[in-house]
Amino acid sequence: MHLDAGHISQLIALCRAEINRNCDRLSVLDSAIGDGDHGANMRRGLEAVFAEREAIAALPLPAALERIGLVLVMNIGGAAGPLYGTLLMELGRGLAPDADAAGFAATLEAAIAAVARRGRSGPGDKTLLDVLYPVQAAMRKRSAPEAIAACARSAARSTGPMQARRGRAAFLGARSIGHEDPGASSCALLAAAICGYFAEHRVS
Ligand code: ADP
Ligand code: MG
Repeated sequence: MHLDAGHISQLIALCRAEINRNCDRLSVLDSAIGDGDHGANMRRGLEAVFAEREAIAALPLPAALERIGLVLVMNIGGAAGPLYGTLLMELGRGLAPDADAAGFAATLEAAIAAVARRGRSGPGDKTLLDVLYPVQAAMRKRSAPEAIAACARSAARSTGPMQARRGRAAFLGARSIGHEDPGASSCALLAAAICGYFAEHRVS
């Protein structure tokens, strides 16, 4: 992963813009099967990261990821905060400074496992993990960024027919079926935006 300070800063700005653009949609999704705050939660988290982006971008990539995770935990709130926070903090802690794409994929796998432990959740529970697992699998296969982005979007859509087994949506039982999971949706938006940047700037 050859990401310099400029790339890190632009990626933060991109993720923040993507969440801002989709904030209402994420909250509408969360209104259907949760409490309607997911868009606002994510926006608060990304705004806090954006406010610190120059200091974060000056750090080496592993430390930058760890810092982003901490800022997300402190600012997203809700169930999603500790989960996104764990993902980024574990990624940062585990990533070797000179990691290549294969090293990144391996570290991501360990970070996703930490999210699953934290949420006591797994595949098919209708959560953001249902996007993270297929995205990681696509990365391990060395898929092109465009293919990984498409995989993330389709994985988020595929949470629609699932019945939620974790988080607030689980209280709805079978009534959670037929609605895309908001956390899966925000995760796919962010993954697709990052992949789009990688494709455009030929980062590898
Ligand atoms: P809250 O549910 O506290 O209002 P958010 O609305 O911000 O928090 O986030 C909800 C999202 O968090 C869900 O759509 C789901 O993807 C994710 N989530 C909730 N609980 C869990 C869990 N135990 N494991 C994995 N993901 C979870
Ligand atoms: Mg919510």
